[in-house]
Amino acid sequence: MTLRDKFGRPMRSLRISVTDRCNLRCQYCMPEPEYVWLPRENILSFEEIAALTDAFTAEGVGRIRITGGEPLLRRELPALVASLASRPAIQDLALTTNGVLLKSRAAALREAGLHRITVSLDTLRRDRFRALTGSSDFDAVITGIHAAAEAGFPALKLDTVIMRGTNEDELIELLAFARTVNAEVRFIEYMDVGGATRWSPAAVVPRAEMLEAIGRHYGGVIPTEERSSAPAERFLLPDGTTFGIIASTTAPFCATCDRARLTADGVWLLCLYAAGGTDLRRPLRAGASQDELRQLIHAVWSLRADRGAEERLGMDRQTTLVPLRALKKDAHLEMHTRGG
Ligand code: SAM
Repeated sequence: MTLRDKFGRPMRSLRISVTDRCNLRCQYCMPEPEYVWLPRENILSFEEIAALTDAFTAEGVGRIRITGGEPLLRRELPALVASLASRPAIQDLALTTNGVLLKSRAAALREAGLHRITVSLDTLRRDRFRALTGSSDFDAVITGIHAAAEAGFPALKLDTVIMRGTNEDELIELLAFARTVNAEVRFIEYMDVGGATRWSPAAVVPRAEMLEAIGRHYGGVIPTEERSSAPAERFLLPDGTTFGIIASTTAPFCATCDRARLTADGVWLLCLYAAGGTDLRRPLRAGASQDELRQLIHAVWSLRADRGAEERLGMDRQTTLVPLRALKKDAHLEMHTRGG
């Protein structure tokens, strides 16, 4: 029988953060000058990640996304991909990356069996990229996206966080760029997640406003009928272009959320907004069997009642949900630790 939580939601997907480190400092995620990192000895090895993944897939997970931090900072990542890709229980194996190191890794990741890649790309302007990420690696990201397209990934996606006063004037250019690399853009509403210490409601560009701007340019936007647990709502333009919007801030999708999240040090979170999680590293390193891990996962998911984004929406606060002092005390509250 399918494992379900308190609201009847199955556990179908697992996002695995393989590192809390990142080579960019995006304003919406890591805008602070200094960070507290997870202790190195706590970071899971690939064998440990695979062992925990097996326990999750035995309880119903069939979709895996590798994330971070920046996952390509784990240099041997294709080895993890190959190990996960060889598991029949995993029907979908995807990766989210900022693309900086993608040029030299795209082909190896594809050969290792990775199914899909999503690259974060928030602007097409070099100067903005520098201001937004603190890095001058814009060209590397664009080359990385081309390398992913050439490596033959069937469903290349570009994730763009839209922030007012930063990049909301690039919707049309980003759609046009995506077409040239055969990718689909997903515009993401700026979320008040841990780490977004500069978040404010005024900086959120709501889905309705994005659709209005795109529709005005293209002469219409048609919602596609597709219904699934995927957070992006998809739309079709008159010229055949498709794109998605993830309205996590103004229209949360907690009711269909089937995601488990594993941090790089093996803490399992039931929600992006959860204040804490279940430490799976400890039992794993203490020698817990697959059956014991499964039982733990089963028991915890059965009691899940999280609906963090909906609760956040209901709060209507003007300040950030997780204050900086809390982030300094507990790195697990940071988005770059939880995995986006
Ligand atoms: N380093 C990889 C990357 O840049 O794609 C993976 C990790 S990053 C945390 C994953 C995603 O988190 C980014 O694409 C970004 O869309 C999302 N993200 C981080 N902070 C966000 C925020 N405050 N609002 C919306 N999305 C955010």
